[in-house]
Amino acid sequence: MTTKEINQRRDARLAYDLVSAASIDRDLMERIVAVRNLVCGRIVFTTSFGVEDQAIAHAIFEQALEIDVVTLDTGRLFPQTYELWAQTERRYGRRMSAFCPNRARLESLVARQGIDGFFASVEARRACCGVRKVEPLQRALAGAAAWIAGLRAEQSDERAGISFAAFDPNHRLIKVNPLFDWTRERVLSFIREHDIPYNSLHDCGFASIGCAPCTRAIALGEPERAGRWWWEQEEKKECGLHRPRRAASAHERSENAAEEALS
Ligand code: SF4
Repeated sequence: MTTKEINQRRDARLAYDLVSAASIDRDLMERIVAVRNLVCGRIVFTTSFGVEDQAIAHAIFEQALEIDVVTLDTGRLFPQTYELWAQTERRYGRRMSAFCPNRARLESLVARQGIDGFFASVEARRACCGVRKVEPLQRALAGAAAWIAGLRAEQSDERAGISFAAFDPNHRLIKVNPLFDWTRERVLSFIREHDIPYNSLHDCGFASIGCAPCTRAIALGEPERAGRWWWEQEEKKECGLHRPRRAASAHERSENAAEEALS
């Protein structure tokens, strides 16, 4: 058997063990402990300070688990998000690591498309997400055995098929979604029950919160993620963090070439 086959079997076995661990109706605190106990090696939890992420951060910090908590500081977050970041560090007495965009790539992007160039097209928006989010994520996950994220199946059609744990071929690690089967209401009641700090924008109609220029409040009855990239068609949404990589378009290839020339 080749090393690749051995690794594939090991990853499949680990994903199976994790799914089994979650199949019992464990609460979030127990699920996160099970992940830490089953995974050998570094675990990274990426937070964007949404309510799901705040619940998971609480489970990690309260139980002093050895899991790296990191965030992608795009440089375009809401002031309220930075306030919550500081408030969360104060509450738990723990630091969160910030991964920022590569300086040369960011300067090149802004020089080419302007400070708000992402409104011009889906490709321009994906180029911005690529520089401000996707590339920093790759650095954040380097060398990790597992990645914990706050995705829930009910958030969107694109996320409907997620499971507790699965091998992520793009990043070559196990991706764990400990809240995959939770409703938004269950997350909110966990937040209330444990008095966990949350983004004040949630009280102003913001359901899913990302970068400030790309997020708006939603109306009653709108889908949770309707406020993200609201000017785009539904099927084109997602920033690239949680979707399979696709072949780059000619536009993106030329953007990448320009970035590489400067990096
Ligand atoms: S969400 Fe908007 S501002 Fe943030 S990285 Fe993506 S396109 Fe850029």
